[in-house]
Amino acid sequence: MLIWMVRFTVLASGSRGNSSIVTGGGTRILIDAGLSCRELFRRMKEVGEDPAKLDAILITHEHQDHVNGLAVTARKLGIPVYFTEGTHRAWKRWLTPRRQMTYKQWLEQCRQQAAARKAEPEELETDLDADELSDNAEEIASISAEASQPVPAPEKDPALLPSVQYFAAGQPFILGDIRVSPFTTSHDAVDPVGFVLEAEGVRMAVATDLGYVAPNVKAQLRALDLLLIESNHDLEMLRSGPYPWSVKQRVLSRVGHLSNDAASDFLERDYDGHATYVILGHLSENNNHPELARTAAERALSGRASLLGNRLLLAEQHQPLKSVSF
Ligand SMILES: [Zn+2]
Ligand SMILES: [Zn+2]
Repeated sequence: MLIWMVRFTVLASGSRGNSSIVTGGGTRILIDAGLSCRELFRRMKEVGEDPAKLDAILITHEHQDHVNGLAVTARKLGIPVYFTEGTHRAWKRWLTPRRQMTYKQWLEQCRQQAAARKAEPEELETDLDADELSDNAEEIASISAEASQPVPAPEKDPALLPSVQYFAAGQPFILGDIRVSPFTTSHDAVDPVGFVLEAEGVRMAVATDLGYVAPNVKAQLRALDLLLIESNHDLEMLRSGPYPWSVKQRVLSRVGHLSNDAASDFLERDYDGHATYVILGHLSENNNHPELARTAAERALSGRASLLGNRLLLAEQHQPLKSVSF
């Protein structure tokens, strides 16, 4: 009899790159590809995961620290990439050479587009005027290229992927032996999500890049066996740190990142204490210190006797975390 195992491995976590692997039954999924393909493969080998056995890549949102190695990794392995449609479009827009811009300019454009979308109802594609059509021509061309031939060479289309699958927040789907439940997060990307992943009765959640723990997120983070939650910054370090005021405002906002205090507030007040492992992730290198994040979470967990059984781990930026198995 074959004994399946469920395994969760953080390859990297932090503002310089995020990526984890979930293995359940016979299925292996890479969640985000925020490091270069070469570095992802190096880390996978380090933790005993064979890149060739990956079945798919799931993307939370289009920020650079989650997609840096995406196109190269997906093409090299020939595996499908799962996005929301909005995230896929935003990612392609960023990669399109004709419209190449700095990451900062691109973030600003995304913010403006999100604001415009909120202000106006969705426009039908047939209503686009000439300027919008030419702006979208490249995107439309590459979408139709996916559906028909000829397929452009990767050097002509850096956003070319072997296969693209769309999912929507709030609509769970099955990927091999793993059930994936994407949920909306409050973050300044086009359509950001977190995931609950279930395999063999084991429930694991990836909840980083959150401005705050919204009610829908709280509802998802229940009855878990493993929780990867953001503990991005120490409020004092951020306030007195080197970032410009506008960036500080962004990080602190309801669509920014979760502070140590906000993460521990969640653990203390709303978390059901069910998980065997709580992993703190996406720690800022400039505005946090692992010991501050750990102390805040430990204080929250030790405040309730029922949480003392939870094992607290810290995911790191520069090396993978030892795999957690169930
Ligand atoms: Zn982000
Ligand atoms: Zn991030």
